[in-house]
Amino acid sequence: MPELDPLLFGEIDPPQRLLMGPGPINAHPRVLRAMSADLLGQFDPEMTAFMNQVMALYRPIFGTANPWTMLIDGTARAGIEAALVSLVAPGERVLVVNFGRFGLLLTEILTRVGAVIETVDANWGEVVPMEAIATAIERTSPRLVATIHGDTSTTMAQPLEGLGDLAHAAGALLYVDATATIGGMEIAADRWGADIVTGGLQKCLGGPSGSAPITISDAAAAHIGKRRHVEKGIRRDDIADGAGPRIGSNYFDLAMIMDYWSEKRLNHHTEATSMLYAARECARIALGEGLAARYGRHASAGRAMTAGLRAMGLTVFGDDAHRMTNVTGVYIPSGVDGEAVRQAMRDQFEIEIGTAFGPLQGQIWRIGAMGYNAMKHKVLLTLAALEACLRAEGFALPLGEAVPAALEAWEA
Ligand SMILES: *Cc1c(COP(=O)(O)O)cnc(C)c1O
Repeated sequence: MPELDPLLFGEIDPPQRLLMGPGPINAHPRVLRAMSADLLGQFDPEMTAFMNQVMALYRPIFGTANPWTMLIDGTARAGIEAALVSLVAPGERVLVVNFGRFGLLLTEILTRVGAVIETVDANWGEVVPMEAIATAIERTSPRLVATIHGDTSTTMAQPLEGLGDLAHAAGALLYVDATATIGGMEIAADRWGADIVTGGLQKCLGGPSGSAPITISDAAAAHIGKRRHVEKGIRRDDIADGAGPRIGSNYFDLAMIMDYWSEKRLNHHTEATSMLYAARECARIALGEGLAARYGRHASAGRAMTAGLRAMGLTVFGDDAHRMTNVTGVYIPSGVDGEAVRQAMRDQFEIEIGTAFGPLQGQIWRIGAMGYNAMKHKVLLTLAALEACLRAEGFALPLGEAVPAALEAWEA
């Protein structure tokens, strides 16, 4: 083998890009500093104390009193997968509330689990009316209702008030993927009656991807424990000894992960120490700011971004009444090369905005203002840069309108 010169690949020194897409976003500097703190052994009392602090810090962020509030190691998808593989047995019926790409992800994971999948769908850019979900629950008698809160693919936020009651009355549990909204829009796990809610750090919590906060209701925890018991006739204690059933996932087995986060501290994986530091700092920052103020800041950013885009003469995508506050879809004007504009934003201004998936690919850009980037100056810079890049692409637009419109909307 030819020898590789290690100096060929220089020290990591990425450009200072402003990430104004649908996530990931720039991490708060305090989070990056926390990640560089010294490592600890996974059963060190200082480390387990940090784990307990993380449990306490994430309860208010999830809007819950659930004791089982912790982290899954992995990106947000790890939290989704842990929830679904632990809640659902093969052959069980699940109703997916599907209004975008992440609803499709739920059905993809549930297919691997061997669930019988029913969906209740909305067109991309709309949400599913509560009456339609109620009818679908009645029609399908699911054991689990699974939904996304904010689907970044369409920028829509599904209303969830009352959904837990509907599901529970029909004997189902409720799962919510709140990755894109946690820390930016209110998460009310207890009030919604959601049995499991999962998130990620790299959207409105202002951290890097790689840790998935999760909260689990007592009913879901009991279901997860009982399911193992009933399926294989094996006592939970035996499972803890490693005699558990060899089905589903080991890494994403919530029963085992809960044993690890409980005072029993039964060995499962090695907790991702630096990511736990990051998650802890994200939560401290969010609670230090105050959740109401934080949601207000995201709402201001979303209002300002929308107003600025409209002042440029662009058309904002989707149902106004159900827009997420932290990401805005906007139609690429006809005759404009969407990718050329994105590249100019990056090359000239070091700003990243998002492209789109599936039916919306090539149709819209998705522009985020999340977490550490949901700030007035970053919204204004993004709008000014987009105006310049659109103009450079030959698109005729009113110049100098976007920034004042955004400033006015921020205060509104
Ligand atoms: C961004 C996002 C995810 C992404 O998960 P990762 O595994 O962290 O990439 C999942 N669900 C929703 C709703 C998202 O917006």
